Amino acid sequence: MWNTIGHEKLINHLEQVIAAGRISHAYIFYGPEHVGKTTCALDLARAVNCTNQTTISCGECQQCLRIIKEMHADIHVVSPERSDNKTSIGISDIRDVLHSSNMKPYEGSYRVTIIDEAECMTEEASNALLKTLEEPPDQNLFFLITSQESKLLSTIKSRCQLLYFSNITKDIIREYLSSNYSLDPQKLELITSLSRGRLGWAIRAMRDEAVLNSRATSLELFWELHRNGLDSGFSISENMASDYFKNPKSIFNTLEHWHTLFRDIMIVKHVDNIYVHNIDVYEQIEEMSKKYLINNLIDNISLILNASDQLKANVIPRLVLDNLVLKLHKN
Ligand SMILES: [Zn+2]
Repeated sequence: MWNTIGHEKLINHLEQVIAAGRISHAYIFYGPEHVGKTTCALDLARAVNCTNQTTISCGECQQCLRIIKEMHADIHVVSPERSDNKTSIGISDIRDVLHSSNMKPYEGSYRVTIIDEAECMTEEASNALLKTLEEPPDQNLFFLITSQESKLLSTIKSRCQLLYFSNITKDIIREYLSSNYSLDPQKLELITSLSRGRLGWAIRAMRDEAVLNSRATSLELFWELHRNGLDSGFSISENMASDYFKNPKSIFNTLEHWHTLFRDIMIVKHVDNIYVHNIDVYEQIEEMSKKYLINNLIDNISLILNASDQLKANVIPRLVLDNLVLKLHKN
C-alpha cells in the first residue's frame, strides 16, 4: 500500500527493487518541493519493516502502524525545521542519528534515516554523514530529500542512488482532491492550478487556510509594489526584512508567489493563458502584461531568484530586499 500518489514508473521500479532484495543503503530523492519525496521514503520505511510477507507494506501490521503513527523507534526524520536553529542541519542535529546507526534496530528490521531539505546540512554535518555512508552500517537505510541536489557534496552523491521526482500532472491532483475533499468546482480548479504539480502543497492548502491566506497577502504586496511609489516599496521591504527574522519561510514563500506572478504575466503575454497558475487574478495579470516588455519580465524573475539565493547565503535581509524592491521599481 503506497501513500505516494503519481510517480508510477518510480513506484514500479522500487517495487521490483524491493521484491528482488536489491534496495540500496542510501538514496537521494530530488526534484521540486512537495511532490511526494518524503512520503515515498516513509512508504519504503514501511516496505522494509513490514512483517506481512504477502504484500509490500501492508499498512496494517504493528510495524506499519507504528511508522504511520510516527511512533517507530527506528525511523528518524531530520530537517531544518526540527533543528536547533531552524534554518540548517548542523552536526548536533545529526550526531545521535549517525551514532545509533551502528547499533541494531530497536524494534524493526531496518533503521531508516530521512534527511529532509538535505541541502541545508552544514559542512560539518555533511562530512559526518559522508563518513557513515562510506562504511554503511547493516540494516540501515538513508534517504536524502532535496529540491537542490546540486548543493550536496559530490562525494555524498557518489555514495547514493539518485531518483528524480517530477511534478505531478494536473489530472492526478484534481482527481485526488475531488475524491478526498468536498470542494466547489471553482476552488478545486484554483487549488489544482496554484499547486503547480505539487500535491503536497495542494493538501496543505486544503488542511490549513493559512496557506491561501499567506498567498493572498503576498499578492496584495505585489499589487501595492506596482500601484505605489518607491517610498511605499521600501516600507514593504523593511517589513519583510523584520519578518524574516521571525519566520524566514514566509518571506521565501512571498518571493515564490511574486516569481509565479511574473511568470504568469510572461505566459499571458507570449504563450497561452491555459498555462496560467494564478487563475483567480487573471484580469490583473492580463492588465499588467500590457505594461511589461519580455526582457523586463525575465530580469524581474532572475532578480527574485537572486534575492532568494542571497537570503539563503545569509546576506543582510534588509539589504537584499531593499535592493530587490529598487530594481523591480526601475523595471
Ligand atoms: Zn505491514
